[in-house]
Amino acid sequence: MENKEIRVRFAPSPTGYLHIGSARTAFFNWLFAKKMNGKFILRIEDTDIGRHKENTINTILNSLKWLGINWDEGTDIGGNYAPYRQSQRLDIYKEYAQKLINEGNAYRCFCSQEQLREKRNQSIKTCKFYSYDRECLKLTGKEISDNINSGKKFSVRILVPKEKIITFNDNVYGKIQVNSINIEDFIILRSNGMPTYNFSAAIDDYLMNITHIIRGEDHLSNTPKQLLIYDALNFMYPDFTHLPMILASDGGKLSKRHGSISIESYKKEGFLPEAVLNYIALLGWAYDEKTTIFSINEMIEKFDLKSINKKAARFDYEKLLYVNGFYIRELEESRLAELIMGRLTGTNRFTRENLDFFKSKLPKIIPITKQRVRTISDYEKIALIFSGKISYSKNYGNKYFLQKEIDAKAIIRQTIKYLEEPSVHSFDAQNIEKALKKVAADFDTAFKNIAEVIRIAVWGEPAGPPLFETIEILEKNNTLLRLKNYIDFLG
Ligand code: GLU
Repeated sequence: MENKEIRVRFAPSPTGYLHIGSARTAFFNWLFAKKMNGKFILRIEDTDIGRHKENTINTILNSLKWLGINWDEGTDIGGNYAPYRQSQRLDIYKEYAQKLINEGNAYRCFCSQEQLREKRNQSIKTCKFYSYDRECLKLTGKEISDNINSGKKFSVRILVPKEKIITFNDNVYGKIQVNSINIEDFIILRSNGMPTYNFSAAIDDYLMNITHIIRGEDHLSNTPKQLLIYDALNFMYPDFTHLPMILASDGGKLSKRHGSISIESYKKEGFLPEAVLNYIALLGWAYDEKTTIFSINEMIEKFDLKSINKKAARFDYEKLLYVNGFYIRELEESRLAELIMGRLTGTNRFTRENLDFFKSKLPKIIPITKQRVRTISDYEKIALIFSGKISYSKNYGNKYFLQKEIDAKAIIRQTIKYLEEPSVHSFDAQNIEKALKKVAADFDTAFKNIAEVIRIAVWGEPAGPPLFETIEILEKNNTLLRLKNYIDFLG
């Protein structure tokens, strides 16, 4: 195997979005291919008709592309082992099923759904573990051809050897041994001509020369079945790595409740693909105890199948936000500005004029806001502060300040007076600070009280970006207008 080209594959069934778990599977395959100078293959496993939605193939492909996980061979770009979509490979599966039948390793099963249901019910009644009773294995050659000639439908079952010990090594779970006595003669080809997952995956992994299989732990129990097919066809085993589950932070099953989990939604919510990849790498693969941030090249260099953690990984949305914030701060400001503007233009929440103003001020806004931002969409709120029409909440009416014994109207009038003074001709943060401090002195109150009134008046909330700089960026006219509007609101 030493000189053999390394070939790995990601083989999604197009049943929904690409979520964090499958993205991790894809990424680990990709990292391993890059590290080993091998090939990464994208195969679509769409033979379970009924469960598949055509548009989900595109969603999955687009999510992978957005993450920057590209493939060397696949449905859209072809390759030496095409086609890469299982529904286009049905003849191949038929051919191998026939070969297995010819060699006595599989047989046709003519039992109808009803008959099988009846058999299952019988074993439930007698408290027996159900497995197919091999009724159709007993059919004579004549009975079989009569059945076929009369148009009777059949599926194909693999003939599982009795009490065979199936052994394989997994890079995460170690040596695994399973006795075939626990495996029934499972169906490999359904009566509608469609292969079952275990059969088509085994055939394709072999035909596509896959050397390493890296997939979710939920497939660990399928592996012995696939190996029975390998054995029956005399295929060499690939190398196996099953990735431990990803649990929610509370140890339960991961769901939307724990923060979004589809890659599509990360894109919509303003995550950066490089941050998502970095975070995904941390799910089950820890280079050491403390390193959190890795560049793609570092991840490729350091990735190792043997260092995947056996313990289930825990999904931590807060950490993902943290990593994303880190990557946002690392971005070149011009690139960040582009991403922000792209996002705002897509929302319909701003007029052209608002957007233009905001854009012109971005070089000043970014440095004072990016420390606290965790996703690009956080800029929607920031943009409202700088360029939207401010609407005041009832929570911040007269009563709010009355309780605090603060005369908000008087404070704002005084602020307007000082900001209008000719001495504030250079409307910059320093002069604005001086003016506001003078207001605090006049009212003989702590500066934070003044700041709270002004923040609410200027952008509707008691918290937000740095006050003086924000007012400077807003400019004199806008600021004065907002202060006056708030007096009107207070009535
Ligand atoms: N189609 C399978 C899935 O989406 C892939 C299993 C495998 O990688 O073998 O879970």
